Amino acid sequence: MRIHLLCPPATLQAPHVAPRHAPHHAAIVAAALREAGHTVQLADEHLLGRDLGQVVAAARAFAPDLVLFVHSDYNRKLHDDVLRAVSQAVADRVPAPLWGVARLDRSHALAAMEALPALDGFVYGEPEFGAVALAAALPGAVDALPATILRCDEGLVVTDPGPVDFNASPTPAWDLVDMEHYGFMPHQSPDGLVYPVLASRGCPFPCFYCEVRLRPNYIARSVDAVLAELNEVAARYDVGTVFLADPTFAVKREWAMEFCRRLPAEGPPGLRWSCMSRTDRVDAELLQAMADAGCFSVLFGVESLNPAALEAASKALDVTTVGPAVRAAKEAGLEVIVSLMIGLPGDSPEGVQRSLDQLIAMEPDFAQFFVVQVGADDVPEGTRLVSDWEGGKHEFWGHMLAPEAFEGRDQLEALRRLAFRRFYLRPGYVRSRLGRLAGARDRRAQVRRLAKGGLIAVKMAAGRAGR
Ligand code: SF4
Repeated sequence: MRIHLLCPPATLQAPHVAPRHAPHHAAIVAAALREAGHTVQLADEHLLGRDLGQVVAAARAFAPDLVLFVHSDYNRKLHDDVLRAVSQAVADRVPAPLWGVARLDRSHALAAMEALPALDGFVYGEPEFGAVALAAALPGAVDALPATILRCDEGLVVTDPGPVDFNASPTPAWDLVDMEHYGFMPHQSPDGLVYPVLASRGCPFPCFYCEVRLRPNYIARSVDAVLAELNEVAARYDVGTVFLADPTFAVKREWAMEFCRRLPAEGPPGLRWSCMSRTDRVDAELLQAMADAGCFSVLFGVESLNPAALEAASKALDVTTVGPAVRAAKEAGLEVIVSLMIGLPGDSPEGVQRSLDQLIAMEPDFAQFFVVQVGADDVPEGTRLVSDWEGGKHEFWGHMLAPEAFEGRDQLEALRRLAFRRFYLRPGYVRSRLGRLAGARDRRAQVRRLAKGGLIAVKMAAGRAGR
C-alpha cells in the first residue's frame, strides 16, 4: 500500500515560522508502516511552507492508497479546508482515503473527528500500532480495529484501545525527514545536528496549560529498547548528540539511574545528550549520574517561582526544590536551562518580576520565557483569552491567556521582552559566557553556538520570534 503521511501546515498565511521540532510521531508511524511492507511518503508541510495547491499536488502525485493526517501540537488548530482538498484530490483512486493518526486520548480524538468532517476515521492511542493495523485491514472492513473512530452514516463509531508493546516501537524513519532544517535551540545542540529520542511518552503531572494532557497516560520503554534505538540512530545517521525528548525525564528514578549506569558501556561511544525534567524529580546523585553518562544539559520546566501561580496552574511543584536542583545540576557539570511562563493564573506582573529576580539569583546558564497560550477550552477561573489563535511569535499555538491582574496582551508581551533583557543582557552574564569560551575544548563550535544563542536572545528581547 502507498501511504502519504501528511503533517499539515500550521498556517497557510506567510510568514511561515520554521518548526523547532521534527515530526517525531510521524517519523515513528512511517517507520512502523515501512517495516510492515508499505511505501511511505512523509510531507511535513509545516516545514515546507507550501501553499494549498502545492500541498494537494504533492499528495496526489504520490498516488496514495491512504492518506494519514498526523495531528501534532503545531497544528492543533486544524485545517479542515486543507484536509478536504487533499481528500478530494485522491478520492478518485480510493473511497474514504483520509484518516487522522495521533497520540491522542479518546476524548480529544473524538473532538478532532468532530472538528474535521473531511476525516473518514481516526487512529488514536499509540499511533504506530493503530496505523499498521489500519493499513493491514484496508481496503476491507475496519470497524473491529482497536483504538479507532470510524465515521459512518449513523455517526461516529468508537472502539477501545488494545494492549501494545511500546518496546516494539521502531526507530523513527529520520531518513524521510530533512533534519537540518529544524530549529533546535543552541542549548540542545553543542555541535551540529541533534536527533530526538523518546524513552517515554506522556507525563503523570496535571499542569493545566500543557498539551501533554491531551495524550494517553505516561508509558516508558525499557532501558534495553532505548539503548538499541540510540545505537541504531548513532550508527545510521552518524550522530554524536541526541535530545531525550520525553516531556519529563526521570519520572521514575530507578529507570533513570539504570539508564545512566548502562549508557556509557552499552550505548554509542561518547554520546552527548540533553533532556527536560522537573526540579522535584532529580537529586544530586541522579544529576551526577546523568553527567557521568554524557548528559550535558537539562531543562527544568519551573514556569514560576510564585507558589500561588504554581498551585493555580496545577503544576504540583514545590518551589523549594528549584534552587537546590539548579545548584546540584551545575555542580555536576550540567548546563541548566530554566523555563518560566508569563500569564499563569494566580500570578501578577509583580509576581513575574519577583520570579525573575529569584531566577537570576540562582544563575542558571540559560532561561526561556513564554507567554501562556492555551486552547479555547482551557480558560481557568479569573483569566480571559486576549488573542486569537496564533503561534510563531511565542512558539506555541493557541490563544494568549491573561489573568485578572494583567492588563492584557501588550503587558504580557512587554514582560516577556523585559525578562529576556534582564536575564541575557546583564554585563556579568555576558562576561561569564564569553569567559567559558576560553576553556572550551571545541572552541569554534562553541563560538558558533554562542553567536546563535546570543542572536536569539537579542531577537526575543526585541519581541521578535527566535531562530
Ligand atoms: S510536568 Fe511538564 S510535561 Fe508534565 S504536564 Fe507539567 S508541563 Fe507538561
